[in-house]
Amino acid sequence: MGNFAVVADLHIHTISCGHAYSTVQENAAAAAALGLEMIAITDHGPSMPGSAHPYYFKNLVVIPRVIGGVRILRGVEANITNVNGDLDLPLNLLTRLDIVLAGLHKRTFPQRLSEEENTSALLKAIESPYVDVIVHPGNPLFPVNIEAVIAHAAKYGTAIELNNSSLTVTRTGSKANCTSFASLAAAYDTYVTLGSDAHISFDVGRVEAALAMAMAAGIKEERLLNTSCQRIDDYLAMRRKKREELV
Ligand SMILES: [Zn+2]
Ligand SMILES: [Zn+2]
Repeated sequence: MGNFAVVADLHIHTISCGHAYSTVQENAAAAAALGLEMIAITDHGPSMPGSAHPYYFKNLVVIPRVIGGVRILRGVEANITNVNGDLDLPLNLLTRLDIVLAGLHKRTFPQRLSEEENTSALLKAIESPYVDVIVHPGNPLFPVNIEAVIAHAAKYGTAIELNNSSLTVTRTGSKANCTSFASLAAAYDTYVTLGSDAHISFDVGRVEAALAMAMAAGIKEERLLNTSCQRIDDYLAMRRKKREELV
């Protein structure tokens, strides 16, 4: 059995977040060179030290829809800031974006909370129609009830990310948790995304470790969003509909 073809990288940073080193153009060129069809530009929300002002996210509209043949999604990796699952961008900005990633980060979420409190933060974020993907939930710095998170993601139709950099360069010790996330995602049939979490253009499209984990867990191709732009478009359209139902 071969690997599924990956046509998109849904988690990429630019120099605008203050601790990454490539521009939108450099990331798009790297994606084009790899033959990717789509990338999501997802810089950290404003509460991350050194990251962009909220106005940066409003002005993402200036980025062309296609650069060098690669479709560009205008997004954010929002910070979940408390156990209520609140994000660090207001709704009027979130609604302007194509894709909203959300996750727990060291500098923007209290550390050493209980597993119950960390889990609550993720469950609340999953319930929000403004959150499209929960990123790197396997971070051992924020232990969570993995099955509760996956069951909730399945119920609310929210995607869970397998983050390649968690398995290669950062968030050391994530692998066991990520393996559990992957196998439960397969069992509950949740949507899954792969993200390089590239902080420099050389890492754009590098999702091999996360893809291997998804394949080993038996996640179905139709649930792995990165395997088709149509799948991504359909998923994001479904998410938009949830937002409209709320208004
Ligand atoms: Zn992150
Ligand atoms: Zn990231």
